[in-house]
Amino acid sequence: MAAYEYETHDYDVVVVGAGGAGLRATLGMAEQGLRTACVTKVFPTRSHTVAAQGGIAASLSNMGPDHWQWHMYDTVKGSDWLGDTDAMEYLAREAPKAVYELEHYGVPFSRTEEGKIYQRPFGGHTTEFGEGPAVQRTCAAADRTGHAILHTLYGQSLKNNAEFYIEYFAIDLIMSEDGQCQGVVCWKLDDGTMHVFNAKMVVLATGGYGRAYFSATSAHTCTGDGGGMVARAGLALQDMEFVQFHPTGIYGSGCLITEGARGEGGYLTNSEGERFMERYAPQYKDLAPRDYVSRSMTMEIREGRGVGAEGDHIHLNLSHLPAEALAERLPGISESAKIFAGVDVTKEPIPVLPTVHYNMGGIPTNYWGEVLNPTADDPTAVVPGLMAVGEAGCASVHGANRLGSNSLIDLVVFGRAAAIRAGKVVDAEAPNPVLNQASVDKAFDRFDAVRNASGSVPTAELRLEMQKTMQADAAVFRTAKTMAEGVEKMTAIAAKMDDLQVTDRSLVWNSDLMETLELANLMPNALATIVGAEARKESRGAHAHEDFSERDDENWRVHTVSRVEGNAVELSYRPVIVDPLTTEDQGGISLQKIAPKARTF
Ligand SMILES: Cc1cc2nc3c(=O)[nH]c(=O)nc-3n(C[C@H](O)[C@H](O)[C@H](O)COP(=O)(O)OP(=O)(O)OC[C@H]3O[C@@H](n4cnc5c(N)ncnc54)[C@H](O)[C@@H]3O)c2cc1C
Repeated sequence: MAAYEYETHDYDVVVVGAGGAGLRATLGMAEQGLRTACVTKVFPTRSHTVAAQGGIAASLSNMGPDHWQWHMYDTVKGSDWLGDTDAMEYLAREAPKAVYELEHYGVPFSRTEEGKIYQRPFGGHTTEFGEGPAVQRTCAAADRTGHAILHTLYGQSLKNNAEFYIEYFAIDLIMSEDGQCQGVVCWKLDDGTMHVFNAKMVVLATGGYGRAYFSATSAHTCTGDGGGMVARAGLALQDMEFVQFHPTGIYGSGCLITEGARGEGGYLTNSEGERFMERYAPQYKDLAPRDYVSRSMTMEIREGRGVGAEGDHIHLNLSHLPAEALAERLPGISESAKIFAGVDVTKEPIPVLPTVHYNMGGIPTNYWGEVLNPTADDPTAVVPGLMAVGEAGCASVHGANRLGSNSLIDLVVFGRAAAIRAGKVVDAEAPNPVLNQASVDKAFDRFDAVRNASGSVPTAELRLEMQKTMQADAAVFRTAKTMAEGVEKMTAIAAKMDDLQVTDRSLVWNSDLMETLELANLMPNALATIVGAEARKESRGAHAHEDFSERDDENWRVHTVSRVEGNAVELSYRPVIVDPLTTEDQGGISLQKIAPKARTF
């Protein structure tokens, strides 16, 4: 057994992650007087949420008529009928409240002439249950909305005496014999000390796993650590095959150009200068949802109408927009286009390509953020002491495809919901759980084994192999053949985890060790993605299967549940929750309105 000394910290709640979701949960917990710690591997305001540009969706009706029922309908349709209806209703209904709270906490939103929060159009957000024109629903602070939200929530959390453990890397969950989460084991990056957090509730808010792919808009820190910890605890991941490609990553660097650029009037063209989206989505054109636009762009390129010397990308045009509008509403992306593509957006189009952007799948939860451990008898069984929120979780409000600006709202609505729930289930007076020492020891043993890994494959080499395989075989379009090959390749790649080579054995600022721990987290996420994709014999949302090009509600309107052990993935399925929280007489939406139908735009 590896002998590491450690310090123990007792809290009511430990939140792992200080992005939008983690901070909103931390703030909500601390506001209620729960003793709350927030553990984060990067400084809070460097979490990936800081990069969110376009905005946050809520039916405030500041720019024209809007209703939460319309927002809910768009989310249901956007999810391609794979989202859980109760959670989608909760999201749309609570969204305005959550945004006004952000405003009162101090988020500096852009304003209309009358001083109201400014809202812009975004893909897939419509009026009249998808029958009317596009709606302006996305609340924005210029094109730096995530930055504004993150800084505000961090300040408010400090004000409410939440305690931050910054640059602490969470290694593994501590689980009792009977399956209750009791805390988390952490490594302090800057001095090499080890820490055990004992808590009545652990909240995973660790973000997505975009870095399982070669080209992604997400930060290098988005390595699915929460999913990795959950998989190692024998718990489930859900709907991992649904990976969103954002239509407009800058060609080459993958750096994001927000959908807000099209919301403000930008449009895509092919090598013939044609606005091709008019052919694919006659009603909403460039503002169709992301899966739709990404596929249309890929088709244009495949059919020989891509731009550039290799004909392998597409143009995003903004130069027809007034220079003042660009400076006021899209200053950040104007700068990114200059730096990463050498383009002056007032004069030239930006070269773009669909780029991995968001993980719809994650740790399954109910709409209170409580983690589920689905079994055949009880598909919504709750894991005591464990919650997951934000991109790490899967509530599931995005189903098979997320609408733009629905993630930031997911972070704050469910971060807040988790805090409300914790206020009910966590007893601040009760003693902390007695830690299962075997579980603590197991975490240290694994850590020690990784630290002393002396095989023949360097971490960076294996990571690249994984990223290239995922990029090629779990792409915008997928075939039975490429996915079967992908499963085979990824299974072999994951097996090489046993042959890794870590050269630095120290405990202080050991980036080699940290990246290896991150790779150990990326791997189960990537495996579950490719195995889940290969198994799903239909096309739905972001999963475009060329051999099964239709959606098949009869057989496949189900959530994929995956359990990963080593390089093996075991799949099962759980039913989608189809009933909303309220009926039509209670002001809700009728079942008939949200019944599955063909998804056209
Ligand atoms: C470039 C870009 C632009 C986007 N724009 C928008 C937008 O305009 N609107 C929208 O709705 N969505 C947008 N999205 C999506 C949205 O921003 C993300 O889904 C969301 O910010 C994720 O937030 P999060 O709180 O779940 O995680 P993150 O913000 O990724 O934070 C994760 C946190 O977990 C911590 N962490 C992770 N692992 C560990 C560990 N092992 N130990 C300790 N701490 C750990 C990190 O330190 C970090 O604090 C965008 C995404 C990108 C990449």
